[in-house]
Amino acid sequence: MDRKGWEYEWCKRCNRRNPIGFDVTDEVWDSVTKGTGYENRVLCLTCFDEMAQEKNIKYFQDIRELYLVSYTDESGIYRIEENNEN
Ligand SMILES: [Zn+2]
Repeated sequence: MDRKGWEYEWCKRCNRRNPIGFDVTDEVWDSVTKGTGYENRVLCLTCFDEMAQEKNIKYFQDIRELYLVSYTDESGIYRIEENNEN
């Protein structure tokens, strides 16, 4: 896989770059990752969702932040709420 230019997060489960950053509450993160070996690792939203499904954990209400990440943009990270303030 060509990783050229990518300075941001890589999913440690599927080994893909992670263009959709997310943050959930500690409680949900711990519930989903407990016993998986990924407790303190970077996960993409796809893998996190698969792991949540395996444990039947609903997490939409516990997402604190979603943001886009891409090296094609100078800043690298695009936080939607910041851009909607105007
Ligand atoms: Zn992944």
